[in-house]
Amino acid sequence: MMLHMDAFNLFWAAYPRRSAKGAARRAWATVPPLEVDAIMAGLEQAKLHNPQWRKDGGMYIPHPATWLRAEGWLDEFTITLPKLQPQRAAVIDRCEWPGCETYAVTSDIGGRNKRCSEHYHMKEVTP
Ligand SMILES: [Zn+2]
Repeated sequence: MMLHMDAFNLFWAAYPRRSAKGAARRAWATVPPLEVDAIMAGLEQAKLHNPQWRKDGGMYIPHPATWLRAEGWLDEFTITLPKLQPQRAAVIDRCEWPGCETYAVTSDIGGRNKRCSEHYHMKEVTP
């Protein structure tokens, strides 16, 4: 079995922010050796999916000691970003009646006089 401190060197090499190595080593000494595989897997997940880590060139990546003490390898990253809606031409599709905020349901040929159902029968747009 790999010595715990050899495993630390692998962790250190894999961690994207190598700072405060002494503190990192002391934090490492407190993690259970059986957790090492989970730590390395969690580290790869964080590098791939933690939005804080991927932001601004990694400037929000915690010190490795901080990450270890926080058991950061247990963090879960669920991608919850909504899909972008296709941009509707909302302005064009609004009823042209002054002050009306309703979406137009009809327009004559040529795309003029877009009106909602309420204003469809009104003859002119009177500003
Ligand atoms: Zn209208």
